[in-house]
Amino acid sequence: MSALPDLGPKPRLGYTPNPLERVSERRGDAAYVDELEAAPGAAAYVIAGENIVLNRFADRLDPLFSLPAARAWGVEETVLLGVTGGHGRFGIGIDPGHATLMKARDDLFVTDLRSLAVQGLASPDDLAALAEAKALLSWHARHRFCSTCGAANRAVEAGWRRDCPACGAQHFPRTDPVVIMLVVDGERCLLGRQARFLPRMWSCLAGFVEPGESIEAAVRREIREEAGILCGPVSYVTSQPWPFPMSLMIGCQTVALSRTIAVDTSELEDARWFDREQVTAMLLDRHPQGLAVPPPIAIAYHLIRAWVEEVPHRAATIPIVSS
Ligand SMILES: [Zn+2]
Repeated sequence: MSALPDLGPKPRLGYTPNPLERVSERRGDAAYVDELEAAPGAAAYVIAGENIVLNRFADRLDPLFSLPAARAWGVEETVLLGVTGGHGRFGIGIDPGHATLMKARDDLFVTDLRSLAVQGLASPDDLAALAEAKALLSWHARHRFCSTCGAANRAVEAGWRRDCPACGAQHFPRTDPVVIMLVVDGERCLLGRQARFLPRMWSCLAGFVEPGESIEAAVRREIREEAGILCGPVSYVTSQPWPFPMSLMIGCQTVALSRTIAVDTSELEDARWFDREQVTAMLLDRHPQGLAVPPPIAIAYHLIRAWVEEVPHRAATIPIVSS
């Protein structure tokens, strides 16, 4: 392709950047946290398992509640997400069982975080804070007992640690690294389909980084396992918090060293090479067969778009993390 395609303004990657100042050094200061909670500007995001609860007004949705309103449903956990404009922002986890009742109420809107993002029902700033709240509260919900001795443990540090009173172990919130990568072979790139995808949707391949494995090794292993392609240098492109339940997507580009695809059908429904023109049409939603790439909130969209918009002098500036 000779001319750079005009794909329009670059959309913001979903759940980034998070506008909250995390004030991590003050989480252990109980007086400071109490003061933030009691201040008039304090507000909370309410998470009920996989569901997010929002206020429904005639003309808009608002994901922020006063702390007393948020706590009226009963609190499983309160975490301090951070501060914005001097006001505390909290995440409040409630019993997921309340979601059904809440969905029936006219003054509330209850849905999952993916739908909020894809449908643009919350501001990008709120989506980023909600991603933090959902990931952290998901960790609490899954770690109520000490993984060392089995005793019930308790949240400390404004929700950023759980301590075991029986054996003294300290447990910290987890983030699970996932590599997601675009494999490039000159003017073609490799995209795959999982059976659960929407019809005609193609995306980058992805997989969890395993213990003892580098990002680069995980990229090469996943591509070899899922598509039978051998890859060379790996470059880092961008990353995205992915709170389903608590992953970090590490977006990379890599170069194919082999070309014959062998799909592992236990992981993928199909994988194919697409040329730059085809992918451009998919990004613009103008593909003749209606093929599409993930929406702009997803990191896959940004990895694919970065390659389509790459020009030789820019491509050379992408830092190589390993060769
Ligand atoms: Zn313990």
